[in-house]
Amino acid sequence: MSVSADPQSRKALVDLAQKFTGREITPFLTTWETDGMLPRDLHRRAADVGLLGIGIDPKLGGSGGDFADVVAMTEAMIGAGASGGVISALFTHGIALPHVIDEYHRRVDAADVDGADYLLAQTIEPVLRGEMILSLGVTEPDGGSDVSRLRTRAERVNESWTVSGAKTYITSGVRADRVVAAVRTPETGEGAAGITLMMLDPASPGYATPRALAKMGWWCSDTAELAFNEVPVAPRDVLGLGLGFASLANHFVSERLSLAVTAYATAQRCLDLTEAWAKNRETFGRPLISRQIVRHTLVDMYRRTDVARVYTHAITDRYINGEQLIAEAALAKQTAVEAAEFVANAAVQLHGGMGYMRESEVERHYRDVRVLGIGGGATEVMTDLVARLRGY
Ligand SMILES: Cc1cc2nc3c(=O)[nH]c(=O)nc-3n(C[C@H](O)[C@H](O)[C@H](O)COP(=O)(O)OP(=O)(O)OC[C@H]3O[C@@H](n4cnc5c(N)ncnc54)[C@H](O)[C@@H]3O)c2cc1C
Repeated sequence: MSVSADPQSRKALVDLAQKFTGREITPFLTTWETDGMLPRDLHRRAADVGLLGIGIDPKLGGSGGDFADVVAMTEAMIGAGASGGVISALFTHGIALPHVIDEYHRRVDAADVDGADYLLAQTIEPVLRGEMILSLGVTEPDGGSDVSRLRTRAERVNESWTVSGAKTYITSGVRADRVVAAVRTPETGEGAAGITLMMLDPASPGYATPRALAKMGWWCSDTAELAFNEVPVAPRDVLGLGLGFASLANHFVSERLSLAVTAYATAQRCLDLTEAWAKNRETFGRPLISRQIVRHTLVDMYRRTDVARVYTHAITDRYINGEQLIAEAALAKQTAVEAAEFVANAAVQLHGGMGYMRESEVERHYRDVRVLGIGGGATEVMTDLVARLRGY
């Protein structure tokens, strides 16, 4: 399937995403939450209908479309009953693959045909066919907010490398077939300049069995701690010596906007569920929605959700048109996270005892949204970034 920005294609994409969610995700989500991971088959099925490659060039095996299509797809899936955990696990490649694609283009520009073909055939295409799971490993046990201080090291061994160190909280890290890991390459210098992205193969010697981490939410999204002891890395798996930090920074905007979308889309889903509940649930002989305080709470939920959505859409449009929007993406994330936390909390409250029960969908969203203000840049770090960018 190929999509473009025209409304008909966008509508077809939204229909597809909703139907796929209803058929392939919501009937099984409770089981996957208990399992602690998504089945690998889901990636293949999402690829078969064209959802896995939305926003990625068809020449590379993607489905085409732009970032606005990714936004529309995410909204549609969460609106049809998927969850932030599903989105994070099924589309983990969304934060990892862009770095491989950047290096592919650098190799094409440098006329390194074999090197480019290798990345395309061995990683990009299999990931987009749903046959390979690709994670991004940046955060370390010592700290995640300050990426420039990461300590996992690569040592040169003849023409190749070995990597030693540890990563933690890595999404899809239990199931990953490859991990794009940020490592320190001593000869490229200290701080941010000394960071390189390398693709690690979990089947390599020295790559310990990933440790699955138990979490507050996002249960269907496996999260791992990884340990490396002199894991060998071939030169063709090095994604640009010393270019790691710049590559990560290049994709911060889309990563933060994606998390903003997950946040307000989850808020919208909680609002929809709560409106329906408030119309049906009776207390003291009248439906909940007949009470002014309940109606006003619903309006507050709607206001916060819509403000977050409209702001994120506006920033997304400008981002697609090529503007540099580091501060705005951070603010979109923060605004949407605040909306999601407020709305999910209000949804649980208005559902009463049922809101606290595992069998209610809002209970899962309440737990799932909590990570959004931590991952992909903690709220305080985002605020500080905006302060610096505004010269405060
Ligand atoms: C479910 C989940 C999935 C994740 N997936 C991935 C992944 O796939 N890949 C990956 O690399 N990482 C992943 N992460 C890691 C995530 O990006 C980090 O947790 C995040 O960047 C924060 O880093 P940290 O946990 O080390 O917190 P720290 O950096 O130790 O910060 C702790 C807290 O201190 C506060 N803080 C930090 N710095 C400042 C400051 N300068 N001023 C004021 N307050 C501050 C914030 O409240 C912050 O939450 C994931 C995390 C979670 C929870």
